Amino acid sequence: MKASEEKSYPGVLSSAWHCKCPRCRRGNMFEGPILSFTARQMRPVCPHCDLQFEKEPGYFYVAMYVSYVFVVAQLVTACVATYILTGNAESPWLYLSVAAAAVILLAPFNYRYSRVVLLYWMTPIFKFRPELYRNHHREPQVHQKTEA
Ligand SMILES: [Zn+2]
Repeated sequence: MKASEEKSYPGVLSSAWHCKCPRCRRGNMFEGPILSFTARQMRPVCPHCDLQFEKEPGYFYVAMYVSYVFVVAQLVTACVATYILTGNAESPWLYLSVAAAAVILLAPFNYRYSRVVLLYWMTPIFKFRPELYRNHHREPQVHQKTEA
């Protein structure tokens, strides 16, 4: 019974990828999907468990450092890939264009997932609490669901 209960909630990577609340893995951290007009609007509290995402004022400044790490990794990858694919060792403009395109195209990803990484792996008090995930189901059919 315990094994089936443990499997009844999503894993940490799946929850992080879908930008779910780190504590209950139910509520969405953002108002809309990554490619929408509301993609950058972060909810102040989790709609499922009322967790306040911004732990203290200015907490999301820390996400800038995570974002910085993302951008450096992406720029190095993009420029090395450009060198491997084109063999260009002459013109800096090719690398500058590729770097600018990579930064612009990946900005929505970096904005969102720098906060996800901050809340999931750099904020120990936001630990996952399975009882909050399960409390969504108040009907007794939960156990029948896993058996059927
Ligand atoms: Zn929550």
